[in-house]
Amino acid sequence: MSTNYFSGMSNRFMKDAPASPASGALPTVLVLGMGDTGILTAGRLSRHCRVIGVTTKPLLVSGQELGLRLTGHAQWRRDYLTPLDRYRRLSRVEIIHGRAIRVDPVARTAALELAGGEHRSLHWDYLVIASGVSNGFWRDDRFETHQLIESRLNAQIEAVTAASSVAVVGGGPSGVSAAYNLKRAYPNKEITLFFSAHELLPGYPKKTQHYHQKLLARQGVVLHGGHRAIVSSDAVTSRLQGGRLEFEAGQPSFQAELIIWAAGRLKPHTDFLPKDMLDAAGFVRTDAHLNVEGYARIFAIGDVAATDPLRCSARNWAYKVLCRNLRARVTERPMPARFNPPSHRWGSIVGPQPTGLRLHGPTGNSHALPRWLVHWLLYPLIVRGFIYGGVRSSRKMSVTQDS
Ligand SMILES: Cc1cc2nc3c(=O)[nH]c(=O)nc-3n(C[C@H](O)[C@H](O)[C@H](O)COP(=O)(O)OP(=O)(O)OC[C@H]3O[C@@H](n4cnc5c(N)ncnc54)[C@H](O)[C@@H]3O)c2cc1C
Repeated sequence: MSTNYFSGMSNRFMKDAPASPASGALPTVLVLGMGDTGILTAGRLSRHCRVIGVTTKPLLVSGQELGLRLTGHAQWRRDYLTPLDRYRRLSRVEIIHGRAIRVDPVARTAALELAGGEHRSLHWDYLVIASGVSNGFWRDDRFETHQLIESRLNAQIEAVTAASSVAVVGGGPSGVSAAYNLKRAYPNKEITLFFSAHELLPGYPKKTQHYHQKLLARQGVVLHGGHRAIVSSDAVTSRLQGGRLEFEAGQPSFQAELIIWAAGRLKPHTDFLPKDMLDAAGFVRTDAHLNVEGYARIFAIGDVAATDPLRCSARNWAYKVLCRNLRARVTERPMPARFNPPSHRWGSIVGPQPTGLRLHGPTGNSHALPRWLVHWLLYPLIVRGFIYGGVRSSRKMSVTQDS
């Protein structure tokens, strides 16, 4: 059974493989988790360090734009489902299809379980924790192959297509995006959105909240604020199936052929870390330099990092801050950069639409970008080209799938 997922890299992953002479002088940075932030950080650091990325999935399966993902939108696959070997900046990064199961900060090692079932230990000089969170049915830390990811995605889209009534639970950006995009794609389905507060989109400016409340109502989504659904178990919220919803305040129960749980019950992927690195909710205690508190050689970024109340270091250019500071540590300079999170969340909520893309700023003002600009400039040049450093076009995959 092979554990080498990227054919051109095979020997580098063998147990006890000696470091290449060229990499001997460079510090080894181990990045745990190759999602949105792991990719950005690993790619940027690989110009200056030997970088190894460990990940449970051989593709970026982004947690962004749930609504587009569920409606089978081609753009979601193009921009949010990308084999790692297509990122140009990752060509110097060694990638291991595995999961971190323990980190020893004193010995500077990480114990890994590989996708094929074997175990190995890696030594690192610097560690970046970018292992994200589990959320609903669409974000998790399971081992998956490309084939499995595709078949799960197709099954989810089929479940949505087959259901005539869909209940979405949760008024955050994922719930709003799912409800809006489903109703737009399937006007004849009954789409109902339940949320516990009286306003949608907690953490966003009032103007953004009101904008989306009106948008959903205009689209024909039935809105039920003040409805906190009873969660019987985490297993239920991570499945995509029908059922009956009950509510904490005793409102009438609700039956739907499909329930999408987007209730924000995030579970950080941190079981493999020493407990003193974590806050009470299990997120990594991270300072404004993105340095893990008390650990000079360990950094954290993205949804797993407790940087600020909104934990928004997956965005706001935090990967640049982390890379600058880590490099300063390597050269024993003071860390130069600080992460300054905005006080309100911002971004696109319902994603690209046939009419274009609306971006909501941290003050609540919004700007509509026309479709041509999104299609020809924003995604190909700014996101894929500038932010991610170039993504090769689709070709025959060089990934060896595990049996
Ligand atoms: C350019 C950009 C634009 C964005 N725009 C928006 C926006 O408009 N609106 C918005 O709400 N958000 C936006 N976001 C943020 C985004 O929604 C999420 O916050 C982001 O996807 C989280 O990234 P992450 O790397 O923390 O986690 P993930 O992308 O979830 O990656 C974590 C990875 O680690 C793996 N993993 C887990 N445990 C282990 C382990 N033990 N060992 C190894 N691997 C493990 C997981 O399986 C997963 O693959 C944006 C992000 C970026 C980068």
